[in-house]
Amino acid sequence: ISRFEKDFEKGKCIGQGGFGKVYQCESLLDKQSYAIKEIRLKSKDVEELEKQIMECRNHAQFVHLNIVRYYDAWLECDNSSSIFTTHVLYIKMELCNDTLENYIQKRMTGVYKYYYGFDQKVMTSLIRAIEFLHGKRVIHRDIKPNNIFIKSNDGQDTILLGDFGRARNIQAEKFSADTDSSSGMSSNVGTFLYSAPELSSNNYTQSVDIYSIGVVLYDLFNASYTREERIVKLNELRDNGKPSNEFSFRFPEIARIIHSMVSTKPDKRPHAKKLLTECKSLEEIERDEMDLLTGKT
Ligand code: ATP
Ligand code: MG
Ligand code: MG
Repeated sequence: ISRFEKDFEKGKCIGQGGFGKVYQCESLLDKQSYAIKEIRLKSKDVEELEKQIMECRNHAQFVHLNIVRYYDAWLECDNSSSIFTTHVLYIKMELCNDTLENYIQKRMTGVYKYYYGFDQKVMTSLIRAIEFLHGKRVIHRDIKPNNIFIKSNDGQDTILLGDFGRARNIQAEKFSADTDSSSGMSSNVGTFLYSAPELSSNNYTQSVDIYSIGVVLYDLFNASYTREERIVKLNELRDNGKPSNEFSFRFPEIARIIHSMVSTKPDKRPHAKKLLTECKSLEEIERDEMDLLTGKT
């Protein structure tokens, strides 16, 4: 008998990735809601199964406020098809309400719950999460709005980094030139816009994550009105290696930080630790800039 079916009430599908679907589930025992990722693989696809198991081994190590909490994983066999056996890997995680990608898209259409300080909170949370990961000598390698989660609790939002499918330990002698097998959803802007130019070269450091966070912050602070506008702005950032003049005029301090984060020279990008110390003062400066903009001086 399936442990999944025995212990959980399967709710709605809340996401779909390259191999799996993510469901909102309630534990029949503790009555709490969880996000459970269900990855179905043909038995012979051992290589992919190993990859997915690596993802939970990576994820399982991290307990941090700004990292989606991993709880448990288990493997089941589905013999219901007479032709082949299917391995099903279940990953039980903390349930989040939304992704940053969704949020940015909703904000474009006007149905967003923008509130003062949200963007700063994302910045601080991402820097905290990455400072923690980098301290453990891990590179996430896939930071983008689709892998950043929002959890709302009593009107309080927490921002969490998730999806450790591409995370690597820095000690690994060599990074395999893995192809990204997961297909991005059509409505999302291209993943490559968020990834550091040197990432495909197999010669990179933790600074690839800093680059990605820089792009995410630009994407977030630079509220666009259409998908096209959003893509144009992100392409400009990538091509010019710095924020637009207009952006720099509006947010001089944020622009300066983003500029350093998206440098084409990886060793010029600031370390997470340094960014963290800048964060607090940055929050204050940004608030002043916002006040100036809205005339609340
Ligand atoms: P992709 O390649 O699109 O990034 P993936 O196979 O790596 O997908 P995930 O990113 O882990 O899979 O999850 C896919 C989607 O499921 C997410 O974009 C999100 O919408 C949803 N999701 C995943 N984990 C959670 C969670 N803990 N809480 C809420 N939703 C989640
Ligand atoms: Mg993902
Ligand atoms: Mg993934």
